[in-house]
Amino acid sequence: MSNEHGEHGAADALARRRAEAAARVEQLRHELRAVQSARSNNSDDDEHDPEGATMSQAWSQVSGVLDSAVRELDELDTALERVATGDYGICRRCGRAIDPARLDARPAAALCIDCARLAG
Ligand SMILES: [Zn+2]
Repeated sequence: MSNEHGEHGAADALARRRAEAAARVEQLRHELRAVQSARSNNSDDDEHDPEGATMSQAWSQVSGVLDSAVRELDELDTALERVATGDYGICRRCGRAIDPARLDARPAAALCIDCARLAG
């Protein structure tokens, strides 16, 4: 049995990436809590304390990275569902096959390159 479409490989790669993304989300939530508690310890003197600015900067930086990690986790979950239903690798918008090179680079891609461009 050949496996031309590499569906099992895709599922493995997705599961692996999902585990990585989940670990990253966990780690970032942890960092965010650490920043938060460091911040509340300093909150009395935020304006005069140079640490205060650094802390808010760290906060928005970490929460930005966390947001994109959560989004990635979400996309990977959706992609894994699509593997289960046999829709993986098919553009959600136009129904054509997504270029395997694109899936290599972005396993969670739900749109072909043309539709992704259109979608912005
Ligand atoms: Zn498309």
